[in-house]
Amino acid sequence: MKMSKMYMPTLKEDPSEAEIASHKLLLRSGMIRQLVSGVYSYLPLGYRVIRKVEQIVREEMDVAGSQELLMSPIQPRELWEATGRWANFGPEMFTLLDRNSREFCLGPTHEEYITDLIKNEVKSYKQLPLNLYQIQTKYRDEKRPRFGLMRGREFIMKDAYSFDVDEEAMIRAYDIMWKSYDKAFTRLNLKYKVVEGDTGAMGGRVSHEFMAMSEAGEGFMAYCEACDYAATDEKATVVYNVENSNQEELPLEKVLTENVTTIEGLEDFFKIDKSSFGKALVYSVKGKPLVVVIPGDRELNEIKLENYLEISSHDIEMADEEMIIDITGANKGFTGPVGLKEGTRLLVDSRIKDMKNLIVGGNETDIHLKNVNYGRDFQGEVVEDLLMIRDGDICPKCDEKLKMARGIEVGNIFQLGTKYSEGIGAKYLDENGKEKYFVMGSYGIGITRTVAAIIEQSHDENGIIWPLNVAPYEVIITVINTKDEEQMNLSQNIYDELAKKGVEVLLDDRKERAGVKFNDRDLIGIPIRIVVGKGAADGMVEYSLRKTGEKEDINVNDLIKIIE
Ligand code: ATP
Ligand code: MG
Ligand code: MG
Ligand code: MG
Repeated sequence: MKMSKMYMPTLKEDPSEAEIASHKLLLRSGMIRQLVSGVYSYLPLGYRVIRKVEQIVREEMDVAGSQELLMSPIQPRELWEATGRWANFGPEMFTLLDRNSREFCLGPTHEEYITDLIKNEVKSYKQLPLNLYQIQTKYRDEKRPRFGLMRGREFIMKDAYSFDVDEEAMIRAYDIMWKSYDKAFTRLNLKYKVVEGDTGAMGGRVSHEFMAMSEAGEGFMAYCEACDYAATDEKATVVYNVENSNQEELPLEKVLTENVTTIEGLEDFFKIDKSSFGKALVYSVKGKPLVVVIPGDRELNEIKLENYLEISSHDIEMADEEMIIDITGANKGFTGPVGLKEGTRLLVDSRIKDMKNLIVGGNETDIHLKNVNYGRDFQGEVVEDLLMIRDGDICPKCDEKLKMARGIEVGNIFQLGTKYSEGIGAKYLDENGKEKYFVMGSYGIGITRTVAAIIEQSHDENGIIWPLNVAPYEVIITVINTKDEEQMNLSQNIYDELAKKGVEVLLDDRKERAGVKFNDRDLIGIPIRIVVGKGAADGMVEYSLRKTGEKEDINVNDLIKIIE
């Protein structure tokens, strides 16, 4: 590709709306442009990178035995009602009406859809296991879209779904996907950790998140260097059994207007700081939210249960605000609100013991209980020790101290069980002719977020440093003086020679100052660089790698050999 013809609208300055490196650099290098908040166009250079990342993921999925298909992003509301997720997704769902006022959403994920798709076609155990995937644009009306490709409202995801006869077979499928993710992320040059995850809106019990190590990440993880333990911060410490209950009932509305309680020292407890944006505000054990802290100025309608998911991570900016504390055992809306009724198995962090005046779910929609005290209103015993992450906590597997790190969730795998097959009514016949629900797993990789993660891990003050296998082009030839015939001819020869060998090569033949070309070259991050300047007359060029920057003068003939 000749750069004189290339559409690459680079920017000299950092765009003011961008806070993190990948966002700045993707904009500056002319790889993406924003249409509206969280919605981007992928420009030619950026789209090449995206396709390469997709291709690596695709190859690993194919090797793992998953088959690619493509579903529609448009999904009818009924499918989501069947599993109760229409309400759960709440405002994160992009919805639309057709001309007959039938309701649809733009798919944030495809569990319901694919289960329905195979429902009437896969009928026998003989057709299992089955694993299908797609690479497709997903839609989530995120509350706080930000950081460019990191958290868009439209983004590209690879999503795979496995169908198996039983739990054991599903776990096998899960392990295969896990290995395939390891291979993909390793090929993508990411430094990452696999951490025990929160099952969140997906349901199911077991999940693992693939976290690319990065200070720019919105995720927190704790990990142990002595053993292999690693988990997200959305995990809590202790499980209590509620033994008695004598709280007052109060409609939520009243709680909000009359009963806002300030609890000092909470900031520390929840690790709220501006940079974490309330990330630790919803704790959960195995996907169940425990403590929701909501600033006192919240609108009533924002505190409804279906919004809890949203409140969880991105939204709370003030550390010193008056607060309501709400402990609820609800399964993120899956089964409706659950409060402190006798016999309720409540999952809470042990430090809740020190808090007075808790507000908890009241076992009824919009009803909460106020002035709930640990000890007086509910007692607990430790049923199970789980982790809630704090720096220096002790690893639950060994006695070492845990370390904390920030990361970018680039992938997430889930053991779903039969939640979706039951909801959709998808069954097969087993060897004995008995009807059974498919046992499922689902597996996501954020393709566009991965592009951002690669940049976060690989850039310097001058621009992006692409790993060779995802770089938009592998080689760039910079012509110092385009008016010099010798330089132009030699460049053209090298360009032709490399292109003939299948090398992806850029020729910077623009009539710009050399300085401008060098800046762009560094910015767009092409891994292998050739400069054709004064030495052209003697067949000499300058060769360097973006990564090290060490320059070497070499003869053209040797050059072609090196690059091969
Ligand atoms: P997050 O915790 O960041 O909101 P998630 O857990 O909601 O992500 P999943 O439902 O697990 O996301 O989706 C699978 C993958 O899709 C994620 O691991 C992530 O890489 C990617 N992804 C999710 N939401 C976004 C988004 N808004 N923008 C870009 N990528 C996303
Ligand atoms: Mg999310
Ligand atoms: Mg997540
Ligand atoms: Mg996830």
